Amino acid sequence: MLGGDREDRKPTSYGATDDVTLNLLVPGVTVRRYTEAASGGALDVIAPCCGRIARLQGDWIHDAHLVLCLACAVTYDVRILDENDGGFAADFVVRDELPALVRRRASTGWLARQHPADLR
Ligand SMILES: [Zn+2]
Repeated sequence: MLGGDREDRKPTSYGATDDVTLNLLVPGVTVRRYTEAASGGALDVIAPCCGRIARLQGDWIHDAHLVLCLACAVTYDVRILDENDGGFAADFVVRDELPALVRRRASTGWLARQHPADLR
């Protein structure tokens, strides 16, 4: 599977039934996923990186959505597509950012003393 010609074989978009792994989710890659209606008129979309769900609120049909997976540190632009059968699909486009996630509270050390954390 791995090899020097990996770039040649790597498609830039994946369908709703395609399995993807995190290493395929490089900037510009698009992954289509099914969606599910949620309570309150929201829409649940499922992230291609790990299968966690983001809930889109508001005018999700027309809005552009920035979705960030905190577990995988992947950001997506998500577009909703009306499938004209009562359902909606979501296209996840991997963004260029490589977010550095804020993960732990600092309690000791020089840096922590300069900016004490709010430990509520
Ligand atoms: Zn993820």
